[in-house]
Amino acid sequence: MPARILDGTRIANDIRSEVAAEVKGLASAGVRPGLAVVLVGHNPASEIYVRGKVKACEEVGIYSEQHTPSEIATTGQLLELIQDLNRRDEIDGILVQLPLPGRVDSKQVLMAVDPAKDVDGFHPVNVGFLSTQRPGLVPCTPAGVMEILKRSQIPIAGQEAVVVGRSDIVGKPAAMLLLNSNATVTVCHSKTRDLTEVCRRGDILVAAIGRAGMLTRDFVKPGATVIDVGMNKMTDPVEFQRLFGGSSASNAKREQTFRAKGSTLVGDVHPEVAEIAGALTPVPGGVGPLTIAMLMYNTVKAAKMRRGSRTSELSRA
Ligand code: NAP
Repeated sequence: MPARILDGTRIANDIRSEVAAEVKGLASAGVRPGLAVVLVGHNPASEIYVRGKVKACEEVGIYSEQHTPSEIATTGQLLELIQDLNRRDEIDGILVQLPLPGRVDSKQVLMAVDPAKDVDGFHPVNVGFLSTQRPGLVPCTPAGVMEILKRSQIPIAGQEAVVVGRSDIVGKPAAMLLLNSNATVTVCHSKTRDLTEVCRRGDILVAAIGRAGMLTRDFVKPGATVIDVGMNKMTDPVEFQRLFGGSSASNAKREQTFRAKGSTLVGDVHPEVAEIAGALTPVPGGVGPLTIAMLMYNTVKAAKMRRGSRTSELSRA
């Protein structure tokens, strides 16, 4: 039986509606959550991401502003900007769009963000809160993975979870969140021996690798829930045929788009896994939409946590 498809777009829309309702409630307490996005220089992909984040803020009623220092901004100038945003009471969240230009000391800039406004959840203080199960801000993509699992009623406690990828922004926090939800967690990476065998132990398998279609059916325990975090732009027709050469209706639709656009977005999980998994997130339309929804959620959470007493009646952070 083909895998149940976990619809990330629907779940993200539900979360955005919940956030919008909460923003309305906060307005009656005189609070409007605010997000500042810092975009340095001109990186076309980053510009698209930032546009999406600003648009999402408008849709849920969060105040947003963009800061666009030039390509030649120094680390010192960016630190000054961050300090200014840290001081402003109406700004609850600060998001520094990565990557920063090579000359800038990214670590120093990210460390300068007030942890209470760190809506990306990358600051070591928030990493520490996550690993010690204290309230804090959790990185958006892994938080989205957990929302998909929970809202799809996938059991987590006591299950074997295997996470492939150990980056600070996806793999490690995803593993920590699964552990905090009482899964038995294994984290794999490029030096893992017998990766296929280890992955096949997973009742839940999370792929956060960055390699198109790498996890084939051999990596998947029959009936497992497979969460595909990968987002890889594929432009090579030969590679496209390798992954989507079969004759299903969804492959035909994707081929049409590929021909028209010259590219398609592909996950880390091979499409054939749909034949063996119990549940699977598609790419696109799986984890991707959750990332912005969780950024909206984090901005409201930061407002409630930071502005404390003014929002306490409404708080459920
Ligand atoms: P990353 O920093 O490059 O980390 C990739 C991880 O995969 C590393 O831990 C690496 O191991 C591991 N890896 C690479 N090749 C491997 C192999 N052959 N076998 C086993 N492990 C291997 O990437 P990331 O930032 O975590 O992102 C991962 C994927 O998620 C990318 O496709 C990215 O585009 C996507 N992503 C999606 C969203 C979203 O909104 N949906 C958000 C963020 C990222 P080592 O540590 O040993 O090098």
